[in-house]
Amino acid sequence: MSVVAKKFNLKKDDIVQVITGKEKGKKGKILALFPESSRVTIEKLNMLKKHTKSDGKSRQGGIVEMEGSMHISNVLIVCDKCGKGVRIKRKKLEDGKCVRVCRNCEEVIDRV
Ligand SMILES: [Zn+2]
Repeated sequence: MSVVAKKFNLKKDDIVQVITGKEKGKKGKILALFPESSRVTIEKLNMLKKHTKSDGKSRQGGIVEMEGSMHISNVLIVCDKCGKGVRIKRKKLEDGKCVRVCRNCEEVIDRV
């Protein structure tokens, strides 16, 4: 994992909750991270309609829906125990592994 992605405290497939904007309160899985722009896309959230043109042969023109990216400051990782988006901190385990834990309840968020 890159240094930048580490700073995110987020990973692909993490479940996050949106804390602001039109999708506020909704939860979803991270599909992709964009470290350059500090944005993420979340499954079925912030859907955008994109118009596609027919290429005249195989494909028909129309509207496709796709996930729009969100700034990482708009989402929080979900703690299973708290049942909502939480701030996290890092903790070193006895075996030296570094994991992400919930700042509220100390629940380990990473599956190790
Ligand atoms: Zn928690």
